[in-house]
Amino acid sequence: MARSFDFLVMGGGVAGLSFALEAAKHGTVGVLTKRSRSEGNTVYAQGGIAAVLSADDTFERHVEDTIVAGAGLNRREIVEITVREGPDRLKALVAMGAEFNRRDNGEFDLTREGGHSKRRIVHAGDVTGKEVERAMLAACDESKNIAFFTDATAIDLIRDRGPSIGGGRVQGVYVLRDSGAIETFVGKVTVLATGGAGKVYLYTSNPDVATGDGVAMAYRAGARIANMEFYQFHPTCLFHPDAKSFLISEALRGEGGKLRLRSTGERFMQRYHPLAELAPRDVVARAIDAEMKRTGDECVLLDMTHLGKAYLVERFPTIYATCREFTVDMAVQPIPVVPAAHYMCGGVVSDEHGRTSLPGLYAIGEVACTGLHGANRLASNSLLEGLVFGHRAVAGAVAEVQTGVKLPTDLPEWDPGSAVPSDEMVVISQNWEEIRRLMWNYVGIVRTGKRLDRARRRLDMLREEIRDYYWRYQVTRDVIELRNIADVAHVIVECASRRKESRGLHYTLDYPEIDDHNWLHETVIARAV
Ligand SMILES: Cc1cc2nc3c(=O)[nH]c(=O)nc-3n(C[C@H](O)[C@H](O)[C@H](O)COP(=O)(O)OP(=O)(O)OC[C@H]3O[C@@H](n4cnc5c(N)ncnc54)[C@H](O)[C@@H]3O)c2cc1C
Repeated sequence: MARSFDFLVMGGGVAGLSFALEAAKHGTVGVLTKRSRSEGNTVYAQGGIAAVLSADDTFERHVEDTIVAGAGLNRREIVEITVREGPDRLKALVAMGAEFNRRDNGEFDLTREGGHSKRRIVHAGDVTGKEVERAMLAACDESKNIAFFTDATAIDLIRDRGPSIGGGRVQGVYVLRDSGAIETFVGKVTVLATGGAGKVYLYTSNPDVATGDGVAMAYRAGARIANMEFYQFHPTCLFHPDAKSFLISEALRGEGGKLRLRSTGERFMQRYHPLAELAPRDVVARAIDAEMKRTGDECVLLDMTHLGKAYLVERFPTIYATCREFTVDMAVQPIPVVPAAHYMCGGVVSDEHGRTSLPGLYAIGEVACTGLHGANRLASNSLLEGLVFGHRAVAGAVAEVQTGVKLPTDLPEWDPGSAVPSDEMVVISQNWEEIRRLMWNYVGIVRTGKRLDRARRRLDMLREEIRDYYWRYQVTRDVIELRNIADVAHVIVECASRRKESRGLHYTLDYPEIDDHNWLHETVIARAV
């Protein structure tokens, strides 16, 4: 028996919860999350939320800062919407109970981050995402119309293929529950809010759930996907086998941290940029990547030892304590760091109301490509995007539901065919490791046509093997995620291969210059289904 809702939402981060809270005023909402309710990128967000809130700031400046960061590829109307609606969404969040740092006079304590020409970042200490998630989940608990399903992994979108009944409308998803059962979830409207895909790369700041499931499902169903070549890498993540995704804030370099080679201890950033360690994020990430490739070292070092223990403990309490947990005392030894996949600027193409190219399917938050970020994301614009489009998408969805969309009653149950339990789990671990490593080495921070071709050839083979495994054995979360990172990797390679220039986050040695004449447009792909 299918579970039916007016609004079916995949994802419990800032985007999914924004949507759920607003949609619950109009109908029933089912929210699926892959693990716990709060696990996702949102809860790990440290810096804050960008919004124009001070008298000496203007919407125009925030718009311009966003477009400069995005290397001109942004959709200006989307940037305008996001920036202008940001302050109201922020205030709604506060009204919901979210608490942010304030000054003695009660005003927000606005901070500034790279690329912002004004102080406009609202934050809750260095755990902003946790506070956003806490406040939103508490608000959801007040609503009788919202039902959560945890440990519920959406596998694939269900699309009506009969042109006479709905013309290929997305009607819901098949979902793997923690019991191993596969259930059918149905929605008058289906919303992807599944976040990013950092796990496609060997090193990432993202948690384990970030396997790009939304992009992969939408791609398989034939939706338009854009700009996937623009993956943002954070320059410094803790390098330690057990510290999967701990971010070492850029503030450490701001406070005098020096990057050194692991093998010789030599500084290198001055060879790449006059500002050395204070160069823009992408320059630092590229320099570290180049030095790691040149020396064969697995990481570089971030040296803070000259600043003294008292200062470090006071200024960076969380980072200090976490490094200590991994036996690194940053007061006496440099921190081993690597760049890490951090934010997916591309995604499922969606419009100003979150509508995708597939009828009945919406995409919001990091999984979506609204055009806000263009070729590179301005810091702290992503929580903002989730708030604004999570809210805006409801208007579109409600209007659609009011046209009389009926819940389908005759969807086929999941057909396991002749699948049997797997006796070859090694296929999963082998392919998982191989994809993430090849993406890191060939489709990472610096690309070339040759590297992309190598990646494509290997991925074609791996995807074939994974497809075979997927149909032969009973579905598990591991195989769902493996299939998804393989499909997302494929989409990234295809987008990156098409762009014959270097812009924003896409840097290729074959075409090191920006080419506004030929390439000032998005890279859109769609699979024929
Ligand atoms: C370490 C870190 C620091 C950051 N700092 C900042 C910052 O300071 N400011 C800022 O603006 N941005 C920051 N970001 C980026 C920002 O956190 C994310 O872009 C944003 O939170 C994404 O929200 P979302 O709702 O789209 O997705 P997420 O918060 O990632 O939520 C995704 C949800 O989808 C669910 N899901 C995924 N796949 C499935 C599936 N198959 N079935 C069912 N459910 C599924 C997950 O369980 C989860 O609930 C940071 C990111 C990281 C990782």
